[in-house]
Amino acid sequence: MARIVICEFMDERAVARLEAAHEVLYDPQLVGDGARLRAEAATADVLVVRNLTQVRGELLAALTRCKVVGRLGVGLDNIDVPACEARGIKVIPATGANALSVAEYVIASTMLLLRGAFASSAAVAAGQWPRAALGNGRETAGQTLGIIGFGSIGQTTARLARGLGMRVIAYDAMLQRDAPVFAQTGVEGVGLDELVRNADAITLHVPLLDTTRGLFNAARIGEMKKGAVLINTSRGHIVDIDAVAAALRTGQLGGAAIDVFDVEPLPVSPSLQDCPNLLLTPHISGVSTQSNERVSVMIADKVLESFS
Ligand code: NAD
Repeated sequence: MARIVICEFMDERAVARLEAAHEVLYDPQLVGDGARLRAEAATADVLVVRNLTQVRGELLAALTRCKVVGRLGVGLDNIDVPACEARGIKVIPATGANALSVAEYVIASTMLLLRGAFASSAAVAAGQWPRAALGNGRETAGQTLGIIGFGSIGQTTARLARGLGMRVIAYDAMLQRDAPVFAQTGVEGVGLDELVRNADAITLHVPLLDTTRGLFNAARIGEMKKGAVLINTSRGHIVDIDAVAAALRTGQLGGAAIDVFDVEPLPVSPSLQDCPNLLLTPHISGVSTQSNERVSVMIADKVLESFS
């Protein structure tokens, strides 16, 4: 019997599956108490985390018995994977399990931002009737969506966008432009510069790496088609949020949806208040009722397999 420590939120049915076969400590608040977390980690065979727990440094040093770290999600930037591997700890992400949730967020945001008319509730209720100002939004069909990072989420987003009649172009640093996956998904493989210049909407689905940090800075945003919209559900640090705010105010960007930030929770940010056509969400694109269950069940099953 293994001892499993789960220190962030996990679907309770998946926790129950683990409890049926192993000793489980499930405490979603544990991540907020570093000293107690390290004490519990010392006797854990398995540690299950989301994106808040930093599995590195002192916590990693405390994991003396641990064989598996389960990640309830896919980005691994909160885990020092090489250091885990060097200590014989297997890191298991929930690959693909929240892709649909992120892809639907991207499509919904793209439609809202291109139309640019759905932040009018307060004005309409106040009797202002801004019909002339909001009557020239864009339809989504026929627009070009540029996807950067054509992995699990990028491909799922492409499938939904194609269903809406969008033209889809994509760039992935690990794929040649003629890689079969592009033709198989009805997508045109292009270079990064070509994508940035031609897309009406750009969505980012790359991991946070040295090669992606600062990818969408002021210069890159300046190369986008004027009035195009930008959606970032990947990670903060990949997009310069101050450059986004500035480009929204000049009209270089026609809209932006930002789900992830350099620092989370985002501190009070006057530069983001009253920005035109800006949607801000608190890192929820991958989190839905269904994806929470899929992610949790996938990790529970993989943990059970690794001890069978
Ligand atoms: P994935 O590994 O399936 O795909 C990532 C793709 O990015 C790969 O195909 C890879 O080749 C490509 N890539 C790597 N470096 C690149 C670069 N420099 N330029 C272009 N392409 C590059 O991952 P995924 O499941 O699609 O997830 C992508 C990212 O989305 C995750 O790493 C995570 O940070 C983020 N994410 C966020 C949420 C959320 O709730 N906001 C949820 C899930 C995932």
